[in-house]
Amino acid sequence: MSERRGLLIILSSPSGAGKSTLARRLMAWDPAIRFSVSATTRAPRPGEVDGRDYQFMDEAGFKAQVAGGGMLEHAHVFGNFYGSPRAAVQEAIEAGQDVLFDIDWQGAQQIRNSALGMHTLSIFLLPPSIRELHRRLRERAQDSEDVIARRMQRSWDEISHWDSYDYVLVNDDLDATEEKLRAILTASRLKRLQQPGLTEHVRALQAEFEEMS
Ligand code: ADP
Ligand code: 5GP
Repeated sequence: MSERRGLLIILSSPSGAGKSTLARRLMAWDPAIRFSVSATTRAPRPGEVDGRDYQFMDEAGFKAQVAGGGMLEHAHVFGNFYGSPRAAVQEAIEAGQDVLFDIDWQGAQQIRNSALGMHTLSIFLLPPSIRELHRRLRERAQDSEDVIARRMQRSWDEISHWDSYDYVLVNDDLDATEEKLRAILTASRLKRLQQPGLTEHVRALQAEFEEMS
């Protein structure tokens, strides 16, 4: 009946709290959700695919894209640049599709303050404990001890921004967190602002009402 406007769904957390895992689950639940593939200057990890996980680029290319206004937001994280290319997001939102962002607090803040801010749904994931966060980073076995130590050090900086988000979930049990995420998304899609077609529907209801009275 009513057309829908796309949501910008932002997932942030300290590294290792479960963003990528939950993003994958959410997209498996609803394959219509588009993932915003970030650009980054960091090197690919084993198994990461260019264009699917990230657009890997060099610093000069990244800076040129920022200068040309091609990034919706960008930030410097763990010594590398990261950014969300604007064009793909714009296109999806205009087509009524939701876009999922796995970005840090700096990016979340920039998107919230952008023209698309009112169509943003932001969710912060907290770990059950710092000990568990560390365990998950080690268990993921993708980074060296050195990189893990740096990520752990930065985790408090990320956590300290928890209170700027619309929703905050403690990712203890994965299935339970996924269920909460689905509920949040379902409700957010029903917000009045996300349903521009409602105006027309109410007008039709009014015309019908007047016709009958
Ligand atoms: P992020 O994207 O936030 O860095 P990941 O999604 O890569 O984090 O998760 C880090 C590790 O923790 C992965 O090995 C993942 O399988 C595991 N993990 C995620 N959520 C949970 C959870 N609720 N309980 C136990 N392990 C989890
Ligand atoms: P990783 O190197 O583990 O993939 O990501 C490191 C951090 O950078 C994570 O906190 C992730 O959310 C953040 N990040 C990834 N892509 C972007 C992006 O496009 N913009 C911003 N601001 N942060 C990003």
